[in-house]
Amino acid sequence: MVKNFIFIGAPGAGKGTVAKLLSEEYALAHISTGDLLREEVKKGGELGAQADAYIKSGRLVPDELIARMVAERLRADDCAAGFILDGFPRTLGQAELLERELVAIGKSIDSAVYFQVCDEDVIRRLSARLICRGCGAIYNQQSIPPKAEGVCDCCAGELYQRSDDTPETVKSRLEIFYRENDPIIAFYQERGLLLEIPDANKDKSMKILREKMKA
Ligand code: AMP
Repeated sequence: MVKNFIFIGAPGAGKGTVAKLLSEEYALAHISTGDLLREEVKKGGELGAQADAYIKSGRLVPDELIARMVAERLRADDCAAGFILDGFPRTLGQAELLERELVAIGKSIDSAVYFQVCDEDVIRRLSARLICRGCGAIYNQQSIPPKAEGVCDCCAGELYQRSDDTPETVKSRLEIFYRENDPIIAFYQERGLLLEIPDANKDKSMKILREKMKA
């Protein structure tokens, strides 16, 4: 059963957490453009150097920088059984690019899932978010704490707070999200692909998406 998903939502809406769980449960490829860009920054190449300044300030990396990276990733073998695009598209231009790219490789989107959360939840979640350097598992100091402080339950990797999860950068990321999001939602609504999850949290989202996997 091949299913291709797009996960849309504000930073901190829980897209990454749910994408990780769902991709593991159903052997889907989890493609987080934020993770791909952070890997590029770590590698230290030209793309990484350009992306770094955008990520640090909470601005979007220009579409042309990100388009080739996503196109290559979608062609990888592990996407054959289905994929979750987590955090892409984030502009209408990216949605259009993605549609063209998918046509070129003979694939399509089954569902564009919109995780709706209020700003207070986003700010609360991001200020308490911890990520594992080893396996990328996501924790929350309040709601999903690790068993031992600073250590990943899954791989014993070190937990860290993302440098762009600061109040100032979060404010800028939220502003950008609200500016860009409506046209993306309209784009997928017109195509009959939008699946909205109001007051999204991990358990509710997983329940809805498991049903979607069966459909
Ligand atoms: P995320 O991990 O999804 O919160 O993304 C972290 C940062 O990476 C964002 O604040 C942007 O600077 C950049 N980024 C991730 N995905 C995209 C995208 N689809 N388009 C442009 N920039 C992106």
